[in-house]
Amino acid sequence: MDVNSDTIVAPATSVGSGALTIIRISGDKAFEILSNYFRPVKQKSFDIAFVKSQTIKFGEWRSDGELIDEVLVSFFKAPKSYTGENVAEISCHASPYIVNKILDCCIQAGARIAEPGEFTFRAYKNGKMDLGQAEAVADLIASESKAAHDVAISQLKGHFSMELEDMRSKLIEFTGLLELELDFAEEDVEFAERKRFFELIDSIKTRLQSLINSYSLGNVIKNGVPVAILGAPNAGKSTLLNALLGEERAIVSHIAGTTRDVIEDVIVIDGIKFRFIDTAGLRNTSDEIEEIGIKKALEKASKARLIIYLFDVNNFSEIEQSEIISKINDAAPDATLIQVANKIDECKNLSEKDSKYIYISAKEKIGLEELKKVLISEIITNKITENQIIVTNARHVEALKKTLQAIQDAEVGLKSGLSGDLVAIDLRQALYYMGSITGQVAADDILGYIFANFCIGK
Ligand code: GDP
Repeated sequence: MDVNSDTIVAPATSVGSGALTIIRISGDKAFEILSNYFRPVKQKSFDIAFVKSQTIKFGEWRSDGELIDEVLVSFFKAPKSYTGENVAEISCHASPYIVNKILDCCIQAGARIAEPGEFTFRAYKNGKMDLGQAEAVADLIASESKAAHDVAISQLKGHFSMELEDMRSKLIEFTGLLELELDFAEEDVEFAERKRFFELIDSIKTRLQSLINSYSLGNVIKNGVPVAILGAPNAGKSTLLNALLGEERAIVSHIAGTTRDVIEDVIVIDGIKFRFIDTAGLRNTSDEIEEIGIKKALEKASKARLIIYLFDVNNFSEIEQSEIISKINDAAPDATLIQVANKIDECKNLSEKDSKYIYISAKEKIGLEELKKVLISEIITNKITENQIIVTNARHVEALKKTLQAIQDAEVGLKSGLSGDLVAIDLRQALYYMGSITGQVAADDILGYIFANFCIGK
């Protein structure tokens, strides 16, 4: 995608559902294109050049004299717009005919259909937001739970960018000082105090590590927590799933394998999305642990972050169970296993409860709140604080890991007495990776720092 002088247009809302659609047009010619078709009502003469920014006008959209729709147009003049260009948002009725007609008109007059993400790309290119924020826009749009929404908003507001910027500016300052030493190599001076450097490195390493660590939570917040329910036939897996989903979506029967439901089942607890993986398998006889060994079940387990191992408290063998559990642990060493004893409603002597189990009745909906609490506490070990920065993006975490590596290399270099200019190479690398998250250019910043802060008389 290249930012050029094209004026771009596209629907910003889904077409065909809902009452209204918003069509967004952005670029130098946005207003001019509009003026060919749009006339505000009760306004004899309308000169688009005099339209005020951040205003809305109600009027008619006409093509070759024919009234297409009554629309509202919001005007945003450059640079006070989302993309930083002239932008108009046309809200029209959501009929596919109307939407296509308006798009056609705009194209006739010189606009072209925007590529995916092109409005946000222009916003980034025009300095309205950094890359990380642009990515947060996509996350915000995709957010399905409160937690996903909250982290996207935080990133959009620039909290992550500010944290990076703070570390970057400190590193830039230090790198600048180290690079200066090169100019004075013969005089053997040290501009950059080494003790301060090690303190800085330590604090940056800690901050980077905590951002990297936050990704395991960020990833589940964004993509949901994959959960598998495993257990013997008739343990009550379908019943439990239905109880958790809060509705009898699948058919539960005494005959294992009569239930069919292929859609992915999702519940949201305390703002975190839990995705029950392969739930169709729950109703698939070939998935039964006893029948085919536990191959299929183990496959499912290996995809899960949490595994609910369900058994009938009135009908189980500890020995068999511990064998199965050790196999599950081997197949999914990183997953957390939650052992759940079901059918407590039929249990006569439940006086001695084993603390390693959670006791429920899926049918009678007993103990489900406790189970949900355990699910959430396995994921959120510490309460998420309001300003906590959580990395949710795989690209960002990769860049953070590379940054950390480069910082560690710089530290090793300095400790082993490497000259400042060589250490600066690693630091530049770190700055590059860090800057790749927000989309800045590191080398220019370093130069900028030197010239802005030092009068070296050269
Ligand atoms: P699955 O094969 O593991 O998916 O088991 P189902 O969910 O199909 O349940 C098998 C049978 O156990 C059904 O008749 C359910 O009604 C019954 N069942 C499931 N949970 C409970 C429970 O908590 N208490 C009792 N009494 N019966 C249950």
